[in-house]
Amino acid sequence: MSPGGAPLDGCPQCGAQYANAGDSCASRFAQLLALDHSRQAPWGPLHGLAFSAYVLQHSAEHTASLERCWLMAYRVTVAGDDPSRLANALRRTRDATLESFDAPPLPHGTPPTRFALTIADLGDFAAADYAMRCRMWARSAINAWRTPR
Ligand SMILES: [Zn+2]
Repeated sequence: MSPGGAPLDGCPQCGAQYANAGDSCASRFAQLLALDHSRQAPWGPLHGLAFSAYVLQHSAEHTASLERCWLMAYRVTVAGDDPSRLANALRRTRDATLESFDAPPLPHGTPPTRFALTIADLGDFAAADYAMRCRMWARSAINAWRTPR
């Protein structure tokens, strides 16, 4: 809620709410990418998973990578693959398909706009519980896409 009591506008794509007008999913994601690119654990090894979660929740500007992100998030959060090993395998396999990685098709229909967890819920990406939160974030994206709309 804003100080005036009216609900704040959420992110039109993932529904995240921010208390400050200058805050946004894009600015949080830029902060997270800076951590990822430091190549430090826990962020670096989870870069592919974090990128996938973000894209699945903000697919409008990322349609080209959507299927690969679905594959990554599904294989890690549902099938239990190791995220950095999977990212390496995907880098080596230019023509990777969902079938070749044993992932179901990306559900059809309008992208979901409500998620149990968004990038706003990851706070400042603190190292202590980032690995768990990142997986929960990706799982919430998978769950929303699999829910009939
Ligand atoms: Zn958002």
